[in-house]
Amino acid sequence: MNSTTKGVNTICTHEGALEDTTFKGAVSPLYMSTSYDFMDVDTKRYPRYFNTPNQESLSKKIAALEHAEAAMIFGSGMAAISSTLLTFLKSGDHAVIQNDIYGGTRNFIESHFNSYGIEYSFTKDLLPESFEDCIQTNTKLIYIETPSNPLLKLVDIFAVAKLAKSHEIITAADNTFASPIVQNPLDLGIDIVMHSATKYFGGHSDISAGAVASSQEIMDKIWNLSKDFGGNLSDYTVWLLERSMKTLGIRVKAQQRNAKRLAKFLYKHNAVNSVYYPGLKTNEYHSLAKIQMKGYGAMMSFELTKDHNVEAFLKALQLIKPSMSLAGVESTMLLPSKTSHALLTESDRLSQGITDQLIRFSVGIENKSDLINDIEQAISASHTKR
Ligand SMILES: *Cc1c(COP(=O)(O)O)cnc(C)c1O
Repeated sequence: MNSTTKGVNTICTHEGALEDTTFKGAVSPLYMSTSYDFMDVDTKRYPRYFNTPNQESLSKKIAALEHAEAAMIFGSGMAAISSTLLTFLKSGDHAVIQNDIYGGTRNFIESHFNSYGIEYSFTKDLLPESFEDCIQTNTKLIYIETPSNPLLKLVDIFAVAKLAKSHEIITAADNTFASPIVQNPLDLGIDIVMHSATKYFGGHSDISAGAVASSQEIMDKIWNLSKDFGGNLSDYTVWLLERSMKTLGIRVKAQQRNAKRLAKFLYKHNAVNSVYYPGLKTNEYHSLAKIQMKGYGAMMSFELTKDHNVEAFLKALQLIKPSMSLAGVESTMLLPSKTSHALLTESDRLSQGITDQLIRFSVGIENKSDLINDIEQAISASHTKR
């Protein structure tokens, strides 16, 4: 049975697992060796070559989940993203970058591309025409991230991939917010998919890792640079990540079931102005989500009315944690105005729709009723008119 005929939960549990031929143990053995035989073998194994037994086996699981020929695991999402971008962008090249992207990626581009002689343009908005407007004769790469942070805007993946193909431009998509359970950009024509595996892949807020998946030909090119940058993940953490990924499918599905219910609850609540979640029928991206996603993911944002103090609301939460990161089994909330978008001026923030009342919500696997009760009591506690 080849991997494309298996269901995602089976891929999560079994794909690429290493066999314990010595003791017949149930799980992949962990090979911590940094030194392997060089005689009579074609493959010279070494951690920084991304080809130790545990790296090689987990890469197969990730490739299968993203419907890719090959994948590589990195020490962080940024290691995966920076190694990929610099593989395909050289001095004199130009990149078209989606406007709404993860702050770390944006910072990497704005702080370092000039010194490498790489030109870039950020798109005006997320419409395919805006990507087209930015294309120059030296454009080599188009970069997207959908759903975006924190307003869960969607890019039409198929349209952007088609546009890029007609100009022979390579495309890369950050699929962190969706996870491969919810969205597979390669199926829609994107060339390279990247993940911060610190998020849904790890899922328990205790692993830093990254991943890239693509064709064998493209992965060979990425490998060629990455082995010299040295951003590999330690084998012990690779082994832990395999353990986490066994439940990726059931975790994400449980999280997005909760998210759908919570989005409806917040949408109806009179303490809430607006809810940004593509799963709501009233959301402007709902029909696009139906086409390119399987479900709507488990990330959302919502805005409390001015009658509620957002900081008091976050402090009053007892179950949901006010926490920076996202995608863990535990629900977390944060204020984009105080975190990811803190460095923007207030008017820039407002022009993007990021008000001080906006809260980003990463929905976990807790019981829906407990999450609803927690939000309800925190809303009551944060009323400014009492
Ligand atoms: C967290 C994140 C990253 C960066 O990943 P790290 O593991 O922190 O390096 C990249 N893209 C998105 C969408 C993220 O959420």
